[in-house]
Amino acid sequence: MNIDNMILQTPYLSLDEEFYNLTKSDPLEEPYLISFNPGAASLINLDEESANDPLLVSLLNGTFIPKGASPFAMCYAGHQFGHYNPWLGDGRANNLGTLNGWNLQTKGSGETLYSRSADGRAAIRSSIREYLMSESMFHLGIATTRALGIIGSKTKIIRNAVENAAVVMRMSTSWVRFGTFEYFYYRREYDKLHSLAEYVIEESYPHLQNDEDRLLKMFCEVVDKTATLIAQWQAIGFNHGVMNTDNMSIAGLTIDYGPFAMMDDFNFGYICNCSDTVGRYSYGEQPNIAYWNLTMLAKALSPIIPKDKMDKKLEEYGASLYPNAYIEVMCNKLGLSEKLDSDAELVEELVIALHDAFVDYTLFFRTLSHYDGNREPLYDIAMDPVVIDKWLGMYDKRLLIENSTYEQRTQTMLQENPKYVLKNHMLQEAIVLAEKGDYSRVEELLYIAAHPYDELPEFEHFAGDTPEEYKNIGLSCSS
Ligand code: AMP
Ligand code: MG
Repeated sequence: MNIDNMILQTPYLSLDEEFYNLTKSDPLEEPYLISFNPGAASLINLDEESANDPLLVSLLNGTFIPKGASPFAMCYAGHQFGHYNPWLGDGRANNLGTLNGWNLQTKGSGETLYSRSADGRAAIRSSIREYLMSESMFHLGIATTRALGIIGSKTKIIRNAVENAAVVMRMSTSWVRFGTFEYFYYRREYDKLHSLAEYVIEESYPHLQNDEDRLLKMFCEVVDKTATLIAQWQAIGFNHGVMNTDNMSIAGLTIDYGPFAMMDDFNFGYICNCSDTVGRYSYGEQPNIAYWNLTMLAKALSPIIPKDKMDKKLEEYGASLYPNAYIEVMCNKLGLSEKLDSDAELVEELVIALHDAFVDYTLFFRTLSHYDGNREPLYDIAMDPVVIDKWLGMYDKRLLIENSTYEQRTQTMLQENPKYVLKNHMLQEAIVLAEKGDYSRVEELLYIAAHPYDELPEFEHFAGDTPEEYKNIGLSCSS
């Protein structure tokens, strides 16, 4: 299919008018294509040749509206850093409609009713980060939104300096947030809560549609999916940075990539968002914050779902859902095929050892994937090999109980422990080049993002330890 033939639907507009606001396009000046993602395009049946279609830039810039599309911004509220904000919404995003189950949205496309005092724009920097990282997360097997492409422009915006505005086209199976429910709860519009829940079930939990108990079951599935998602974030070393309830997906996806980071040296208390002075959204806090956010969702749903039943499910999150999900992913990373009760302790001790060892998180697991009893390669990458040595003693004993051979274990571990993740310094170098008009690095990183577990000799330099000066730097929210 080419862009001209796209036909969208707008099921969200069947909800009451309070749920959204129709938007007018405010195109960027002199737009040009920065990158096109054929992987995301295939999800909506768009041909690869669309990359060369002039309509692509018009689609992203809002000057070409596909058939059936009707641009709108979604309304939501949310707890930001623990404080309730009753009026958020898509302040810089336009939703075009749905194709093949994917809701298309341009981010940075201009002011909406929900822009408050901000300009409705997005910097090239943050657009490239979201575009590449969402692709990387997908290929790492983590539930996420996707991105079809990016355009740059001559439109100027003021952030830390004067910058050029960009637009990224994002795609998601759902854009509904915990905060969408909170909006109607705090306004005491419980009939709207109900219609939103039915909408979410139809969009994201269709197997529940004819179930009498579907509202409670929807909540339970959100809890399950959130537990799995956060376990995967922790296991891959991802720090989201802004886990406000408006950035929490009702479909359990990673959404709204901002000042995120893949950790360099493992640090349990790492804070990627430098505006987060107390570390509310630090790496180590993510499982607790997800729980807190789920309790806010339960509160918002309490007029339509029995609270005691939701509380029971919430108890499970901390008691079993999250810890079990986390231990399971970590055991996979350690190449352990049988799961033993004592594995929780092995993982706990590993986290302590990694924290003390000053070792690159990604590099550690990739190196461990080749571990055949020779500890030297692991000593070589850690600042403090002594703690690693102690933990390897435990690991050696544990491996004795495994039935798998070294070859089998290595083979599975190399599929669990990526060689390539997109670290901030890699993204930053691509951004600096892009700001000078060279998009080759963006393309390279898009390719690397799609091959995290492969050996890519030409990109070996992206698989090593992060240069000391770039380790675990924080980013600002300004984007
Ligand atoms: P975020 O934390 O980036 O997900 O954004 C929080 C809220 O601020 C959302 O309602 C965004 O739409 C809004 N927002 C962020 N940046 C801008 C901007 N430049 N213009 C308008 N709204 C914005
Ligand atoms: Mg957001």
